[in-house]
Amino acid sequence: MDESKVIEWVDLNLEKEMYRFALQDWRISAGVGMPHEGMVGACAAVQGTRQRADIYIDPPFIADEDGLKEAIQHELLHCAVGPLETLQHQIHSMLGDDQVETANVLFDTANEAIVRQLERLVKRVAELAIDEYEQEIEDGKGDVDCEAGNPRKRDKKRKRR
Ligand SMILES: [Zn+2]
Repeated sequence: MDESKVIEWVDLNLEKEMYRFALQDWRISAGVGMPHEGMVGACAAVQGTRQRADIYIDPPFIADEDGLKEAIQHELLHCAVGPLETLQHQIHSMLGDDQVETANVLFDTANEAIVRQLERLVKRVAELAIDEYEQEIEDGKGDVDCEAGNPRKRDKKRKRR
């Protein structure tokens, strides 16, 4: 994905995604370029107790906007489990140098598994919400006033196209 497109998307959507993942009280930055050589894709440096994080995106490894959204959401889930990273740093201070590497591998494996499971959970919940919403529309109960607008009106707009 083009670097400027990544930046543009982040400017437009990061805040919304933070809110979606209940991270609106955090200070999160997202930018292009990886923090260490040899790293690809995306990653986040998370300070769980301070509710701060820096997300790094590697534009050549992001295919399109959907891929970018998925990558940002993945990194935001790493923020959501931020306290684990704080624990990791505390454990490090109790270990010898030779044990730190092993502890890192164990931690990264568990951390990644938790985030992947959360990703599946978020997708499942989103699907259920859409199913429920469609059922409500079908039952004629979908007349919900919300900030995003009235679904009935949106439906009419959709039909006009
Ligand atoms: Zn990850």
